Amino acid sequence: MMETSSQKYKDQRKLKSDMGHRIAFRTKSELEILNDGFKWRKYGKKMVKNNPNPRSYYKCSSSGCNVKKRVERDSQDPSYVITTYDGIHNHESPCVLYYNEPPLMIPRGWTLQASNVSS
Ligand SMILES: [Zn+2]
Repeated sequence: MMETSSQKYKDQRKLKSDMGHRIAFRTKSELEILNDGFKWRKYGKKMVKNNPNPRSYYKCSSSGCNVKKRVERDSQDPSYVITTYDGIHNHESPCVLYYNEPPLMIPRGWTLQASNVSS
């Protein structure tokens, strides 16, 4: 019994990878274009069933990269934007992000000492 279920999992995995890489998320935003660090070129716009707002299609502007983005307003709640990414970028983000700054760390002992003083 265990063996058959693990076999099933394997098949599902294979199916998923064939479908490609797709990520979708819902953001409350007035702007349709969310700055995600990549440059996009709009290539299409389409009216969708059951949604008064059109859906916009974008393609990564980097040459050789086939990642696509789909942006639409939530038909249920237009204050939300649904962004769907299709594919994986074959390059780094063109925007330079700085992660070099060390995270602010408060030593554990120091915090403990402070709370002890107040009591
Ligand atoms: Zn790209």
